[in-house]
Amino acid sequence: MKLRKSPFSLPPDQYGGARKRTFIGLMLASSVVLCLGLAIFLILPWSDALSGVVWLERLSVVVALVCITALMWLSLMLVFHIYTGKALPGAGSVRHVTIRLYFPLMELLAKFVGIDRGSVRRSFIKVNNELVLSRRKTVEPHKLLLLLPHCVQRSACPHRLVHNADLCLRCGGCPVGALLDLRDKYGIRFAIATGGTIARRIVVQTRPDCIIAVACERDLTSGIQDSYPLPVFGVLNSRPKGPCLDTLVPLEALEDVIRLFLGLSDSLTPQPLLLWKR
Ligand code: SF4
Repeated sequence: MKLRKSPFSLPPDQYGGARKRTFIGLMLASSVVLCLGLAIFLILPWSDALSGVVWLERLSVVVALVCITALMWLSLMLVFHIYTGKALPGAGSVRHVTIRLYFPLMELLAKFVGIDRGSVRRSFIKVNNELVLSRRKTVEPHKLLLLLPHCVQRSACPHRLVHNADLCLRCGGCPVGALLDLRDKYGIRFAIATGGTIARRIVVQTRPDCIIAVACERDLTSGIQDSYPLPVFGVLNSRPKGPCLDTLVPLEALEDVIRLFLGLSDSLTPQPLLLWKR
């Protein structure tokens, strides 16, 4: 069987140049570390720790072998799913394993070997997005939530939009007006959050089937983890003035993703990263 690359592969330039190989490499390294940890249970019967109790020795070996085999199988399934975009039978929980087990471990390992945290997070977001796309279902417009950070609003704007985005005058001073146009064009849900707690509250209140979230790598990573099992497609913002100030959004890429989730198109069109312009 010839392996074909995933049709849901996303362009690295929309993820700050991040590639899946960073995620896959760290994930495999995490698996090796876990397997080495579990190998202790294989060695125990040859030590005095179990006092020669036969059933304990057998249990130790069985637990180690089962856990190591399960980990290796999960790793292989994950690599196969990421590479081909196809899930093997029983791989329904691949995203779960990625988010709950591997990513926290990978961040620790990356810190230990000195890999830039930002590139690990961008790689995770890219892999998450591809897994979300590969398992996506068409979403009703009122069940699709576009979640934005408050820093997308121009810092000098006098209007407070967190409770009512329609107070925006769409003056063209920042991307919010164009984003509201997108909301009106497709009839989707729209919210601006000032932080993780507010974002979680918005998700609970709006009960979407799918979220398209715009934020920096740190907030997207935690948002994807916090919202699990809800599918979250992360779109990285651009920060020409530094973190949390007058951030920009790749509008064309965002609209493309909205259309895909609403079933108005079959695939994402490869396009340059065009940011909102005044
Ligand atoms: S588009 Fe204008 S009114 Fe709306 S948030 Fe931006 S600066 Fe304020």
